Amino acid sequence: MPKAKETVLEIDLGALAHNYQYLRSRLAANTMFMGVVKAFAYGSDSVAIALKLQQLGFEYLAVAYAKEGVALRKAGITLPILVLHPLPISFKKMIKHRLEPNIYSFKILREFIAEAEKSEVIDFPVHIKFNTGLNRLGFLEEDVRQIAEMAMGQNSIQVASVFSHLAASEDLNERDFTKRQLATFDRIANAMRASLPNKPFRHTLNTSGIINYAHEAQYELVRSGIGLYGYGNEALIDKELRPVATLKTIISQIHHIKEGDTIGYNRKFTAEKPIVTATLPIGHADGIGRPYGNRKGFVWINGQKAPIIGNVCMDMIMVEVTEIDCQEGDEVILFGKQASAETLAKGAGTISYEILTGISQRVKRQIVDK
Ligand SMILES: *Cc1c(COP(=O)(O)O)cnc(C)c1O
Repeated sequence: MPKAKETVLEIDLGALAHNYQYLRSRLAANTMFMGVVKAFAYGSDSVAIALKLQQLGFEYLAVAYAKEGVALRKAGITLPILVLHPLPISFKKMIKHRLEPNIYSFKILREFIAEAEKSEVIDFPVHIKFNTGLNRLGFLEEDVRQIAEMAMGQNSIQVASVFSHLAASEDLNERDFTKRQLATFDRIANAMRASLPNKPFRHTLNTSGIINYAHEAQYELVRSGIGLYGYGNEALIDKELRPVATLKTIISQIHHIKEGDTIGYNRKFTAEKPIVTATLPIGHADGIGRPYGNRKGFVWINGQKAPIIGNVCMDMIMVEVTEIDCQEGDEVILFGKQASAETLAKGAGTISYEILTGISQRVKRQIVDK
């Protein structure tokens, strides 16, 4: 890997392929795989990731919002794309770009049918989402009959799949709750399939669902995001996966700080003895937020851990390097290959998903594929 000369987010497509093979190895050979590429593919690069997933033979992609899907279509992605949180304002665009909606309420169902009729499409694929306990988006079990009647009463849309989302698939203390969610989904999916002539396919597992519930609930398709990017929500799985994104920067300047001097805005760090600090060209505008300041976060320089001291600035952070052999221009790793984003996130009270998706568009993406 080339050494960083500025702040870059390196995207390793080889790691993506490895993670896919690992997750696949836990599934039946004919189970379809949906790659979740919402939020710039978890903060990486949605076009580069989607092109690679298409090449790897994925059956489906998912985004959160329609505009994310439009960007993929414009970049030449031809795979079916599920839009997890469509809003009526984008229905027309979605039909034009063949972006398949999650239908989660009667209002959305009625309005999507109306738009599909206006656009004169036939059997446009839609995906019916059921709320089985997350209480975020979705129909209830008692809605099955009316959904089926509405679907049967027209031919502009067709129910391609029925699905649900688990509330706590990564938390084995919530196993009983998850089993109830899965049982509810199973009843609903069977009822939907009994009422519709084209058996819609079924899906409910995300990454941790694949890890913990693949035996009982993999159905025809699984949806994975975080696992593809190299994080498994538990240490044993993390060992099998490879982080796709590595956030790197360099040392801009080294300072020799005298005892009693302070570092950064509002003087939140006071040197109790002479120390050495390094200033790095990355700050909260790049996605390293204020909660990482004041020793909650750290970086790696020449294999050694350097805590962030003082407040995080918009465009810079300062780290302590008193005991580290380093110079201006040396490479610095924030997370990735040698340093888990999950560990860094935990120090600031958050999770890998948030730090990954928070890396701003100011940071250059560098794609590596080998
Ligand atoms: C984001 C999302 C996923 C992916 O979850 P991971 O934990 O990243 O695998 C799957 N399904 C739905 C509905 C989602 O919103």
